[in-house]
Amino acid sequence: MLKIRFLELYYKKNCSRFYYYNRLNLKYPTFLKFASYFCSMIEDKNQQRTPLSELGEFGLIDHLTKQFNIKQESTIKGIGDDAAVLNFNTNNTVISTDLLIEGVHFDLSYMPLKHLGYKAIIVNLSDIYAMNAEATQVTVSIAVSNRFTLEALEELYEGIALAAKIYNVDVVGGDTTSSTSGLVISVTALGSVDAKNEVYRNGAKSNDLLVVTGDLGAAYMGLQVLEREKEVFKVNSNNQPDLDGYTYLIERQLKPEARKDIRQLLKDLDVKPSSMIDVSDGLSSEIIHLCKQSDTGCDLYEDKIPLDPQVISTCEEFNIDSTTVALNGGEDYELLFTVSQDDFPKIKANPNFSIIGYMKEASAGVNLVTRADTQIPLKAQGWKNFED
Ligand SMILES: [Mg+2]
Repeated sequence: MLKIRFLELYYKKNCSRFYYYNRLNLKYPTFLKFASYFCSMIEDKNQQRTPLSELGEFGLIDHLTKQFNIKQESTIKGIGDDAAVLNFNTNNTVISTDLLIEGVHFDLSYMPLKHLGYKAIIVNLSDIYAMNAEATQVTVSIAVSNRFTLEALEELYEGIALAAKIYNVDVVGGDTTSSTSGLVISVTALGSVDAKNEVYRNGAKSNDLLVVTGDLGAAYMGLQVLEREKEVFKVNSNNQPDLDGYTYLIERQLKPEARKDIRQLLKDLDVKPSSMIDVSDGLSSEIIHLCKQSDTGCDLYEDKIPLDPQVISTCEEFNIDSTTVALNGGEDYELLFTVSQDDFPKIKANPNFSIIGYMKEASAGVNLVTRADTQIPLKAQGWKNFED
């Protein structure tokens, strides 16, 4: 995850200005909306530093979880008993878990805790939506060392609460325990889906259309911009980061969102994907997952990959190939799915969807068809190898 300490320093100097201009709503509405949001994430409202030992484990759990209200009908019993009780009636339950470890998945010396809490929830919800399910509950467990204060954990839980509120999920449980070294966060997300609407990775058929929501590569380019500005800031801390032309990229990197809306949209269009996955590691590896699970091949058309104009211009500026960024950048949290060709009329004009290729027999392999009309086998590079 991202190193943005320098941004915090910059925003801390300017937050009151951003709030003021945002309220006036005169110019740069997108940038100011984002800047105000970012300020609210890093604002240090509370200068107190209360050691966790003052509360004890049970006091701590009570304190951190008292803000969570139950909104979902399926939550019968939330936090406060030995276990939560849920009732999904005749629907199937979908469960996904992620483990985030300090020093491996995030670096706390740079990552605001509120962001971390928000993102920890988003990445899990994205997996629930990829099953074509409604996300309904989460549990959050953390292990912390005694270098964390109560106020630090409050910040983390503010991010968790914000995501839970926006995505309408209940926080129904979790555990807090001590760790001898860093911070560990484990989030489990639960969802509910009518069995006939479930979508797996393994249902794609030859000739199905390959479709992706939104656009790709922006989160990765946001990271490039922030890394560059950080270097500038290191040289002279009075240099203000030049972020005006990169708002969309930075927002996608700092405030990822999951595609909660797609399930309803597909329902309204009366389209059930034959397979689906969320794009967390980059388009390339997600396509390979679908093909492997479905035992198909695929042709992906380079000229159909959706890119925001800011991604294209910033790739040119950084001299990076935009197709490579879309294929291997990751952290887009869009949904990638396949549909029968019969559904083409229902999705073709929808601005949320891009048809980027079609599935083939497994023997055809998984290929990128370039603008020059040559075929290149796709490789699953993922985020890490891409950085090497
Ligand atoms: Mg996933």
